Amino acid sequence: MDGGVATAPATGEGVDIDALAAALRSICGPEHTLTHHDQLRTYESDGLLQYAAMPGVVVLPSTGEEVRRCVEACHRAGAPFVARGAGSGLSGGAMPVEGGALIALSRLRRILEVDLENQRVVCEPGVTNIAISEAVGPSHFYPPDPSSQIVCSIGGNVAENSGGAHCFKYGFTTNYVTGLEVVLPDGQMIQLGGKSLDMPGLDLVGAFVGSEGTLGVATKITVKVVPSPETTRTLVAFFDSTSEAGEVVSAVVSEGIVAGAMEMMDNLSIRAAEMATGAGFPQDAGAALVVELDGSETECEARFDEVVSMCEKGGAWKVRVAQDEVERALIWKTRKAAFAAMGRIAPNYYVQDSVIPRTRMAEVLRRIEELAIEYDLKVANVFHAGDGNLHPLVCYDGAVEGEPERAEELAGLIVKACVDAGGSITGEHGVGVDKKRYMPSMFGDDDLATFQRLRCAFDPDGLANPGKVMPTPRLCGEVPGPYREHPLEAAGIAERM
Ligand SMILES: Cc1cc2nc3c(=O)[nH]c(=O)nc-3n(C[C@H](O)[C@H](O)[C@H](O)COP(=O)(O)OP(=O)(O)OC[C@H]3O[C@@H](n4cnc5c(N)ncnc54)[C@H](O)[C@@H]3O)c2cc1C
Repeated sequence: MDGGVATAPATGEGVDIDALAAALRSICGPEHTLTHHDQLRTYESDGLLQYAAMPGVVVLPSTGEEVRRCVEACHRAGAPFVARGAGSGLSGGAMPVEGGALIALSRLRRILEVDLENQRVVCEPGVTNIAISEAVGPSHFYPPDPSSQIVCSIGGNVAENSGGAHCFKYGFTTNYVTGLEVVLPDGQMIQLGGKSLDMPGLDLVGAFVGSEGTLGVATKITVKVVPSPETTRTLVAFFDSTSEAGEVVSAVVSEGIVAGAMEMMDNLSIRAAEMATGAGFPQDAGAALVVELDGSETECEARFDEVVSMCEKGGAWKVRVAQDEVERALIWKTRKAAFAAMGRIAPNYYVQDSVIPRTRMAEVLRRIEELAIEYDLKVANVFHAGDGNLHPLVCYDGAVEGEPERAEELAGLIVKACVDAGGSITGEHGVGVDKKRYMPSMFGDDDLATFQRLRCAFDPDGLANPGKVMPTPRLCGEVPGPYREHPLEAAGIAERM
């Protein structure tokens, strides 16, 4: 499937937006159908503010059936639509289609069923990640824990296959979703999976998780929760450099110690986060390594002592062990504050999210440092060290001419360095609009064409979150060979570039 590239409807051009807004108003009420410019501006970006577009209409349904009717109305109007959870995404995934519809799911925030005996929770997509653990605690918890967990929605987590600090041991969102109710882009509502772990047939739950809003809208989600560990021990060790701390991460893994989490912050991140939380992290440390073990009391105690001594032997000049739950929470708060605290270092920053093999960590971090010097920009590093999932934060000042462009170029070279090291363009934030240009560095034409065929099976009209994920969006039904006009082109909804 190479040759001429056509865009799916990546703008709402040609859509009668007033008629669509009237239809949506009749479904959700005027107070939940927004068309005024000032109201729409709230929704023009997700957490990656570098990308913005103004939707034509934003609608806030309150039930799955209202979502279904909204999607059906978009389909009837030929209008592209984007589902939005909390808008905390960092790849531009929830950025609206210019002039199209945005379906915000923040009013669908009911937990519908807590079935602890069978370790299942059924909830609506707008429920926050943390609310699930709160609903089942203290006996159980929901392991995937993005640092944004107090705000991000479970619907967004499903769409992005989100990770978090504890995914090193426990696995990502995809390992916890057993069932989905989904509104397809034509307004049909379907059930995928259920409460059991593995339903017969094709694994469409697996296909939907991580599909970034391109296959439809999840309106009900069934997740697995697990019993809380008997005990948890947490430490933060301070080193002169990230390479020293990285060596300790490798040593812990080689010893067969399965840590609940292993997280690292470099000096810039430590300084920023410390300013935000005042946790007492030394500002001159080159690296902070947070290690958490959880499990049975006996195993945890013995292995925790081993980790402390590995840190000391590996060059840690201070190892702080959390003495109680308050101190543990403070260590985690400081780690999780690192992104948001970066505003204290620079007016703007560009979040990268790439994965590398753990064994290449020191080398890639050195390359990032060289690039930062070459581009005369600061890059802070905070990452899920156990998974090799880096989050370089490229700092810049948007008011200085040329800096935003330099930052973007530098961020791109960091992605390239990670791919060259055998890694991936994204670990957990998704491809969205930001990373789609890098997809060909990981996938061949045939691979991409297969993704596109799956997408077209769910969304033949290309209305669900068009212009995201795929590097060269194509119209469904396009086949290799001489050019033939697609019906959407004929209707003036899409164009060939
Ligand atoms: C400070 C900070 C820290 C973060 N830390 C982490 C982290 O540790 N790990 C991590 O993985 N991510 C992290 N993120 C990124 C982000 O929080 C996650 O990607 C999260 O899953 C997005 O959820 P959301 O509800 O905000 O989704 P949104 O940003 O609203 O949407 C994200 C994508 O999901 C789609 N979508 C949303 N709801 C639905 C639905 N119901 N059906 C179908 N598609 C839907 C959207 O169309 C979009 O493509 C962080 C973000 C911030 C700002």
